[in-house]
Amino acid sequence: MSSDGPRTTTIDKGDIRLHMFTSPEVGEMVNSHVIETPNALIVVDVPLYKPFAEAFRTYLDGLGKPIAKILITHAHPDHWFTVSQFQDHATFAFQEALDEMAVLKDLAYGYHSSIHPDLVPDVVTLPSDVAEEGPIEIDGVTLILHKVRDAEATATMAVEIPAINTLIAQDLVYDRCYAYVATKDAAGESTIGSWIGHLEALARRDFDLVLPAHGEASDSSIFDANIAYLRFAADVLASARTGDDMIRQFKERYPDYRLDLMLTMSAYMLYPSAEA
Ligand SMILES: [Zn+2]
Repeated sequence: MSSDGPRTTTIDKGDIRLHMFTSPEVGEMVNSHVIETPNALIVVDVPLYKPFAEAFRTYLDGLGKPIAKILITHAHPDHWFTVSQFQDHATFAFQEALDEMAVLKDLAYGYHSSIHPDLVPDVVTLPSDVAEEGPIEIDGVTLILHKVRDAEATATMAVEIPAINTLIAQDLVYDRCYAYVATKDAAGESTIGSWIGHLEALARRDFDLVLPAHGEASDSSIFDANIAYLRFAADVLASARTGDDMIRQFKERYPDYRLDLMLTMSAYMLYPSAEA
């Protein structure tokens, strides 16, 4: 286990304070977010591993306000694997994500237990409730839950906070980290083209603040950076014949990016017979 612990960052926007709780690299550097309103907390995603979820709970308790809602953005384990440690609260995900979690759960638990047996949660449970797309209001603050299909995941929840022109985009964008690019649509085709289309539409919205799941808080410029990355990724996937070749091409083009594990997992899924 890395000696690094989780890190927290806060951003004040009028009556709303945003908190990014960042797991260390061993926990995939994933950001679990908190929207703090005058009287409540809204959580967006929970950590991958047990000690970071414990630290996140301690952090939430320290804020001294009730948790009004826990939203889970998509089915990849670094966004929901410790839901069992939040079972005293309802946790909400889109039905498509719940279906995908049910399919992925055992495979993902086996994988994460094999690489970090000391960090995985004792049990993995799915979020308890189905989220619906559209606006919700909590403590006088409107949130719009957008359902984005066929992007980094099959169905991703992006949480817009119109009052502060902010989008919690999670894995729709990555900030200077290698993105997971192995998702396929129902027809078995790569979702990269569809994903680029969603980002082009979001770029036109001109958000003041865009929060990714991996990396630092950004603004709408993050969409163009990710569109360029995904266009490059489409070329790589069309030309690479092995997982190693795929990884080499990304590292040559983006030598300073972090989160090698996303490359390894992408290669494992895209080139199952090759050594990644
Ligand atoms: Zn993801």
